[in-house]
Amino acid sequence: MTVGSVKIAALIPAAGGGTRLGLGPKAFVEVAGRSLLARSVDALAGQVDEVLVALPEGMKLPGGVKARSVTGGATRQESVFRLLAATEAEVVLVHDAARPFLPPEVIRRVLAAVAEVGAATVALPCPDTLVRGTEGHWDGLLSREQVWTVQTPQGFRRGLLLEAHERARSEGFAGTDDASLVARLGHGVALVQGDARLFKLTRPDDLLLARALAAVWDAEQEGVHG
Ligand code: C5P
Repeated sequence: MTVGSVKIAALIPAAGGGTRLGLGPKAFVEVAGRSLLARSVDALAGQVDEVLVALPEGMKLPGGVKARSVTGGATRQESVFRLLAATEAEVVLVHDAARPFLPPEVIRRVLAAVAEVGAATVALPCPDTLVRGTEGHWDGLLSREQVWTVQTPQGFRRGLLLEAHERARSEGFAGTDDASLVARLGHGVALVQGDARLFKLTRPDDLLLARALAAVWDAEQEGVHG
């Protein structure tokens, strides 16, 4: 399969409530004047044929965001399932709106791996010491060799991801990402080098990091496009 000749859709689940961040639906939160959603859509728009976004019920796309939208579900998995049902593209790239700093070369790496394997995710090797425990209690050391932390975007042949979602639904399996649903089928998933800038905004402290990064990121983009 070659990705060059097939239709590619970016699917952006953006229907989360943003409870841990505490500022309302997270995708609509702004960093340096632009919403997380607008930043994610812009990063993908130039490299795919269409962009679809799952929004919280009753919400509309912010002005200037060029995409098609569907109403998301109660979970991220349900939101992605609805996005999948709304496209006929042969290849889909699923990307969390909560990861707004998406370098173009990462998208290219994922698409190249999808062409070879059919399923791929970005991920980072774990640089920290890894332990099992609960807050206040160290329970034991884990090996950090062979451990990767998984990010998005994740790319798939659409038919494969649809099969994985249907299987997960019928078996009552809830995953926190899409690659894990495909792996459950016994299908290979390529791991592609991710990027530290692709961190997911989750807690209030992440906003400080995002604002600091946006200052550099936006200046670089202006340098490239302006
Ligand atoms: O909550 P979490 O940070 O894991 O959400 C990851 C992504 O999934 C976010 O972009 C969020 O908007 C999206 N999501 C969704 N529908 C839900 C819950 C989360 O589209 N019901």
